[in-house]
Amino acid sequence: MNPIPPEPYRGRFAPSPTGALHFGSLLAALGSWIRARQADGGWLVRIEDLDPPRTVAGASLAQIDTLRRFGMESDHKPLWQSERGDHYQTVLDSLIAGGHAYPCACSRNDLAPFDGRHPPHCVASQPERPPAWRLRMTETTVRFMDALQGPQSFALQTGDDVVLKRTDGHFAYQLAVVVDDAAQGITEVVRGADLLAETPRQIHLQQILDYPTPAYLHLPLLLDAEGRKLSKSEAAMPVDAADPLPALRAAIRLLGIEPDGGSVDDLLRHAVRDTDWRRLAGIRAIPAPPI
Ligand code: GLU
Repeated sequence: MNPIPPEPYRGRFAPSPTGALHFGSLLAALGSWIRARQADGGWLVRIEDLDPPRTVAGASLAQIDTLRRFGMESDHKPLWQSERGDHYQTVLDSLIAGGHAYPCACSRNDLAPFDGRHPPHCVASQPERPPAWRLRMTETTVRFMDALQGPQSFALQTGDDVVLKRTDGHFAYQLAVVVDDAAQGITEVVRGADLLAETPRQIHLQQILDYPTPAYLHLPLLLDAEGRKLSKSEAAMPVDAADPLPALRAAIRLLGIEPDGGSVDDLLRHAVRDTDWRRLAGIRAIPAPPI
């Protein structure tokens, strides 16, 4: 009998267009791109432009262009989440029909006395305002194996009811990321360890929707000189698209290898050859390099 061929690998990079591509995002892009190329698989870019108040005009195209200058191009036309409202609504409707989602007008202040969790009944101080839609969470333990961070186990609690659609009518990250990872056939999610704690909720939602669960690899977080997580402003330091070599070399070094090559293409080719993920196993955070 022939062995079952391995599923074709498909990875993705999913930036939010809140500004220029920054170094932390470059690391996530590079990590996911190398992983896809090592597996001889596909690499897709998805623009997570779901939050109009935070979206900067022109930032998505600028990020795509910056990625190109760093030698990374999506194998298919990038997916724009702002164009996918109908898909998200269809999935939300199925969750509502299945009793998994409920309308809720509670504000953050209303939930503060409950540690941010949602009590069994809404406590909205303005029940007449347009509702958000929340996922009804049940007590369950989600376990998964992270390719770098090792075995993970998270106890989800009743009331940990993530927002799927916001009170302003925009769909929330948690719903969109799960719908799109499935729609794009993503087999492995490679991203920063700041999203590790979101993963169990996403897996839980995949299970409710009967979607496959991809593999996960969470890259180390970048720390400042004092060992603290980089602040938003430091982390948002844009990379220089006109002169990609210094930032690309710095990002490659963070993957535990010595950059080899004098051009973007050479550096990338050698990074695919040399990156050995075992060297990064269990590393949750690393100091950000000077560039
Ligand atoms: N859009 C998210 C960000 O830029 C990444 C989400 C993900 O990779 O799942 O932080």
